[in-house]
Amino acid sequence: MCDLHDESTPCTTRREALTTLRTGALLGALGALFTSNAAEAAPAGPALSKSQQAAMTADEILAMMKRGNERFRAGKTHAHNELREQREATVAGQYPAAMLLSCMDSRAPAEVIMDLRVGDIFNARVAGNVINEDMLGSMEFACKVAGSKVIVVMGHTRCGAVKGTIAGAKLGHLTGLLERIRPAIDATTFTGERTAENYAFVDAVAEKHVALTVASITERSTVLAELVRAGTIKVVGAMYDLESGALRFLA
Ligand SMILES: [Zn+2]
Repeated sequence: MCDLHDESTPCTTRREALTTLRTGALLGALGALFTSNAAEAAPAGPALSKSQQAAMTADEILAMMKRGNERFRAGKTHAHNELREQREATVAGQYPAAMLLSCMDSRAPAEVIMDLRVGDIFNARVAGNVINEDMLGSMEFACKVAGSKVIVVMGHTRCGAVKGTIAGAKLGHLTGLLERIRPAIDATTFTGERTAENYAFVDAVAEKHVALTVASITERSTVLAELVRAGTIKVVGAMYDLESGALRFLA
């Protein structure tokens, strides 16, 4: 597989390799003899290329996310001074490996908690990670047109949207949004206090909501259902724990 944020490849090595790659490209342009040596040392680069995206399997993409989350939890994320290189490398095109639907909660930014780069994923965020026609259309574009092979629906602990739904909150357009979460309340098996004040229950509903959303994606989208049947993509759920920083993929 391609070398994506692998633990064995620290940032400094990647930067050095990138410099080597750029030097190699320059030498190649000048018709020098050392181009092949530079090509052998070619790293993953600052962003996913089309060929790297095509070569990755869904399981490899999920493993990339898990490794990134482990780095995040350990406080060993990659250096932010690489962001400029990532921006420059993605201007001409994007080849995201996955499409992520997550809550807008300011404490759960997907790229940060998975230590991903600019261009690695499509990231759709909305309160309570709810699905609608527009979101399904975005997922269809990501997977059918842009080559992404994984859809991740990511919920999180202590979710305000889930809490509000349990509490029966009503406010303008928010009322309709929270209604999309309501089926998860009835579907959640829970012994204990089923209230918005009990975070054990709130988290259980959030996880059930993720599972129902994952199921509804292929129920409602024939485009995505066909891609899943063909083994081209995977649709998976995940829960992010605000307290521990751990991202747990659901079976
Ligand atoms: Zn939330």
